[in-house]
Amino acid sequence: MLSSTASIRLPSVQFPLPALAMSDAGPKLHPQTLSIHPDDQITPGWTAVPVPVARASTVLFPDLASIRALNWRDDSKWRYGLHATPTSMALAQRLATLEGGKHTLLHPSGLSSITNVYLAFVHPGDDILIPDNAYSPNRELADWYAKHHGVSVRYFDPMIGAKIADLLQDNTKLIWLEAPGSVTMEVPDVPAIAQVARAKGILTAIDSTYAAGLSFRPLEHGVDIVIQALTKYQSGGSDILMGATVTSNADLHAELKRARMIFGLGVSSDDCSLVLRSLPTMQVRYEAHDRSALALARWLKTRPEVDVVLHPALPDCPGHATFMRDFTAAGGLFSIVFNPRYSSAQVDAFVEGLRLFKLGYSWGGALSLALPYNVRTMRTATRWPHDGVLVRLFVGLEDEGDLRADIEQSLTAHLG
Ligand SMILES: *Cc1c(COP(=O)(O)O)cnc(C)c1O
Repeated sequence: MLSSTASIRLPSVQFPLPALAMSDAGPKLHPQTLSIHPDDQITPGWTAVPVPVARASTVLFPDLASIRALNWRDDSKWRYGLHATPTSMALAQRLATLEGGKHTLLHPSGLSSITNVYLAFVHPGDDILIPDNAYSPNRELADWYAKHHGVSVRYFDPMIGAKIADLLQDNTKLIWLEAPGSVTMEVPDVPAIAQVARAKGILTAIDSTYAAGLSFRPLEHGVDIVIQALTKYQSGGSDILMGATVTSNADLHAELKRARMIFGLGVSSDDCSLVLRSLPTMQVRYEAHDRSALALARWLKTRPEVDVVLHPALPDCPGHATFMRDFTAAGGLFSIVFNPRYSSAQVDAFVEGLRLFKLGYSWGGALSLALPYNVRTMRTATRWPHDGVLVRLFVGLEDEGDLRADIEQSLTAHLG
């Protein structure tokens, strides 16, 4: 209970704020006009931890000469809110630093960052190679390019390594990578594939959402463009949709930037400020996801209901050795394959019987998630070897013991 208010001192804030100053030059203006033409300079010397939220469509110029001198390639000049604001630029720079790159572009979703790579580089007559474990909407986009835009699209075994050389054609423009694939978890040999591509002058782009710029840095292994779905760990709150491309190559960045501008892709400073707020805790969150997920994966391997645990840090997972060589951690995502004696209806009942693991797309937040997948319908280049149903788990930040007990109760109730 507050016994006395007498000792509470209010901080000394001046009210009213200093008067609007426009009135001393020119005609006396109506308050409505002054509210649109203020003279309120933000106090110089203001220093605080958060990056301010700079909302803008219109960005103002002092004269026509500065507008006419604008060059869209120059990242140091402000132009239009769609292209960059101080808030989006702050986020872009921090993401480039994390990834060990030089240039970042932000997009309204992870998928639109993937789209930006196609818009910038894939043209009629080109051939592109996509791993069979790629994020499904990336496959759908590629198939749409094949159907409507005269692009040849071929899918390859993600475990192909340097043998990718056998697939290359004169018109091969782009090789996509995903490490690991976000459902089936195979870990490709990224350095081997990137090396073959670079020797032939073929572009490589990797969906590195799984690593989040923390556990694997593809640009340091010869990949040209990294895409991140910031919707996942970078947001961390299951509340933002955003994506990024990161590259170290100024020419690639310029092509991406031109396409992004032509197609009108942009982000809001409010969303950027929320990602900026989450970014400093991303590494500790990632480590916490990683610890719980690995412990649960090891425990699930001992369960009689589960045949295969597809966690890249465990030996069942294709590419495990590559993962141990290239990655420093795994985060919260892994999959399990049930024994084929359980029907998909039984596995569905197990998934729906979970209480703490919820049903839903996307991941990277505090909440644990589970979804069954029918992998055989998701691939075309390779035959998926497992007959049992695959369930992908995202292990959130709940207490690990509670999550284990939750899985156990649903296993007993539905597969016992
Ligand atoms: C979620 C996700 C994306 C797309 O991100 P959105 O922001 O949902 O468009 C791309 N790749 C992977 C691996 C993802 O998990």
